Amino acid sequence: MFKNLGYQIVDFEEKADIYVINTCTVTKEADRKSKQMIRRAIQQNLKAKIVVTGCYAQSDYQDLQGIEGISLIAGNEGKNTILSQLNNLPPHQTVVTVEPAKKLRKYENSIPPGSTSLHTRAWVKIQDGCNKFCSYCKVPYVRGPARSRSIKDIEKEISALNDKEVKEVVLLGINLGAYGADLDTTESTATKKVNLSKIIALINDFKNIERIRLSSIESIYLDKELLEAFIKYPKLCHHLHIPLQSGDDKILRLMNRPYNTTFFYQKIQEFKENIPDLAITSDIMVGFPYEDEASFNNTYNLVKKLEMAKIHVFQYSDRQECLANLLIDKIEQKTKKERSEKLLNLSRSLSYNFIKKWIGLKTRVLVEKEVKDREGEIYSQGTTDNYIKVIIPKLTGKVGKLVSVRLEEAYSNYGIAKVT
Ligand code: SF4
Repeated sequence: MFKNLGYQIVDFEEKADIYVINTCTVTKEADRKSKQMIRRAIQQNLKAKIVVTGCYAQSDYQDLQGIEGISLIAGNEGKNTILSQLNNLPPHQTVVTVEPAKKLRKYENSIPPGSTSLHTRAWVKIQDGCNKFCSYCKVPYVRGPARSRSIKDIEKEISALNDKEVKEVVLLGINLGAYGADLDTTESTATKKVNLSKIIALINDFKNIERIRLSSIESIYLDKELLEAFIKYPKLCHHLHIPLQSGDDKILRLMNRPYNTTFFYQKIQEFKENIPDLAITSDIMVGFPYEDEASFNNTYNLVKKLEMAKIHVFQYSDRQECLANLLIDKIEQKTKKERSEKLLNLSRSLSYNFIKKWIGLKTRVLVEKEVKDREGEIYSQGTTDNYIKVIIPKLTGKVGKLVSVRLEEAYSNYGIAKVT
């Protein structure tokens, strides 16, 4: 939006006239980092206009009002109008334009269509909000109820990306699997239900788009229709990021997660049996209240048994509005750190094992960039359909193209390949 109006986008380290800090509040650490960035921006240019938006601004704008130097605190729904809001600001005052999230009923596209696209990949948001209220999670309070973007609107953006010859579309949502459940009968009827699989089918028909990737999906949405979509639509990437959070049933119940470990295990096995090269990645939370050694070991063993390709590990932190805050048996920071390290080590070895399995096999890589190493040798870097980061030595001039390669070497977080 700024670019379209002739503003020059500069690096954060350079002195700017306007700073926009898009904050996160998913953990206490995210809050701390958001505040740190705001203070850094203020110090960089005391005369600059400082705009703070995103989830931390949405949920804790009262805290932010205490920081001197912020010009505008805009909620998530106000992101699209930051420019016009900036034009009407009184000097030396902090203006707050935050709408309560619980009142949000209609999907508003807070990311201008096309603004998140590279030449190779575009992130297309189709859903916002969540109704699940996991006991540790602040998201439903900040993002509001689950809302889906209209099919027409999605189609319009996909069509524009197709014209720009973007190769890969990544579908985003706070709770992506819930897509369509709230759409009214003009879009969704009992016989023609609108859901994520329908959106995949729609995108599959666009000629220039060669890959469709799902950002993250809860296990409860891994239904028969989605499995069929994987089999029917070759453009759908063989990668699923499915948050497990804990591999222990007691902890899952306390977390208010809508599944147990048996369900999760069976679902993953069902998908893996039908899609043999499927990469499963996940989010795991350590140090949730009452997570004893046995519970943690259950998580560790389940991640290992499922041969996940990679996991993201988060440490539990109390969030004021969340029910888990009231649980008494909190876990020490030291234990959280140790458990987190154990899982990260496991993730590294699982990732290596996963990549190693494809050595000698042919696959296709979407080339994302060219990089020069220390010796001045150029190589291309890209990603396979099943989310393996690949380096192709000596390959040039292929950014934005899909190239056929054979994987030759495996490391813990990438593979080395040769063009075939
Ligand atoms: S499903 Fe995800 S976004 Fe929704 S409450 Fe649970 S953790 Fe938060």
